[in-house]
Amino acid sequence: MSIEAIVLIGVPGAGKGTVADIIEMSTNYIHLSTGDILRQSIKQQTPLGIEAQTYMQDGRLVPDNIVLKVVMEHLDTGHKHAHYMFDGFPRTLAQAELLNSYFERSKARLNNVFLLEVPKEVSVSRLTGRRICRKCGANFHIHNMPPKTEGICDRCGGELYQRSDDRKETIIRRLQIFQKESTDLVSYYERQEILVKMDSSKAPQKIASSIINLLPKIG
Ligand code: AMP
Repeated sequence: MSIEAIVLIGVPGAGKGTVADIIEMSTNYIHLSTGDILRQSIKQQTPLGIEAQTYMQDGRLVPDNIVLKVVMEHLDTGHKHAHYMFDGFPRTLAQAELLNSYFERSKARLNNVFLLEVPKEVSVSRLTGRRICRKCGANFHIHNMPPKTEGICDRCGGELYQRSDDRKETIIRRLQIFQKESTDLVSYYERQEILVKMDSSKAPQKIASSIINLLPKIG
């Protein structure tokens, strides 16, 4: 197995998903978002989705064992020679340590962890205004990136909706959880000297370009 990976971590609303989508379009990194996979499992009402549902609706973290199962399944059944970009994973020190053991066993390599930093007001405003296409998953924002026709996806014509965990009360809980969990996670990667901090209040295109410039050149 020759897997290489990078990780995007950041407060909810830091723009991880948008930045990851841009990077995916111009590199051969595969975007793997645990949030997206869990939402898909809920939509399909798989046993895993049913288990994760209540946690996600309340804005709490899904237990580490469930998340790890999701990620391992993807890596075990996916390409054996690939570049992965994890978005929203790991989110706790325990997840980071488990990922590390898995990577050591599989001779995979974690190249860099990018911490997308943004002030709280910016993250709240991005989340409350975020709208997502039910059909293709494209992201919009009612002020910053409005669709041409209100409520309709520019890309595929699908219906736009607001994630149930993007409501104000749930956002506050998600931000508190991030503050609590991220300190140990960030120190862990700082100690490994692979953490890169990025100012994520800039446009997603700019952040994506800066990350791409820092990636090891891949063929
Ligand atoms: P996201 O799409 O990254 O904002 O994640 C949405 C929700 O999915 C989070 O609030 C958690 O409930 C759950 N989730 C996603 N990734 C993880 C993770 N690595 N660990 C625990 N819960 C997660």
